Amino acid sequence: IVKYNKVTKYFDDLQVLDKIDFEIQQGEKVALIGPSGSGKTTFARLLMTLEEITDGTIEVEGEYLWHEKNEKGELSPASTEHLRKVRSNVGMVFQHFHLFPHMTVLENIIEAPITVKGKKKKEATKQGKEILDKVGLLDKADVYPAQLSGGQKQRVAIARALVMEPKVLIFDEPTSALDPELVGEVLEVIKDIADQGETSMLLITHEMDFAKEVADRIAFFDDGKIVEDGSPSEILYNPKSTRLKEFLERFM
Ligand code: ATP
Repeated sequence: IVKYNKVTKYFDDLQVLDKIDFEIQQGEKVALIGPSGSGKTTFARLLMTLEEITDGTIEVEGEYLWHEKNEKGELSPASTEHLRKVRSNVGMVFQHFHLFPHMTVLENIIEAPITVKGKKKKEATKQGKEILDKVGLLDKADVYPAQLSGGQKQRVAIARALVMEPKVLIFDEPTSALDPELVGEVLEVIKDIADQGETSMLLITHEMDFAKEVADRIAFFDDGKIVEDGSPSEILYNPKSTRLKEFLERFM
């Protein structure tokens, strides 16, 4: 469902991603691990079109994300409209929630379905409430984000991503800004989504136990490259490269 082909990213002169090939199959859950600064977030933000690709291609559901093919089959940069259309298959949950502070929980959730998908307010509200119920926060529908705990805020952020029914859902260190006692409730919601099966997931995390539990595959990033990519048991218990061995010693 997602295919990176020789994806390269520079920020000015700094190369952050180096010709990465990578795929996610339909329904597959892939965890990305690796040292800070190795390029994981940038890798995911390219899929969400929050950063611009420097070189290579990304396909989502068989369509180029950053490019469009002309009649001759040549690739040219995508129009805004094309980019928006392909990107609508992708959702993202950030480390720092990114909720709109001046909107209630329910308003946060129904905003995109109304403005982006053109849904009627009534329908969006019904669907928004169902999803809030799923993340256990229906009773918080009318409060403002400032009145919520970090764990609750992140569950709202997850609901807001889910309501757009993305084919691929990216989680970028969703628990790293939380107090330890709030981590569990968020991981549980993510686990529920994973167990439902249909959404493909890309999960950037330092929680190795959680990665093992949820992921079908783990990819290890180092210095802008995917150094190892395999099943959780291969990656966590049978690392081949010295870099991964060293990394795991620090995190497990
Ligand atoms: P972390 O686990 O700390 O989030 P990461 O593996 O996700 O790290 P990235 O956040 O993708 O790594 O960063 C990769 C490199 O790109 C870092 O050297 C970072 O400083 C640099 N970088 C990221 N965003 C920008 C930007 N907007 N402008 C310039 N450099 C950037």
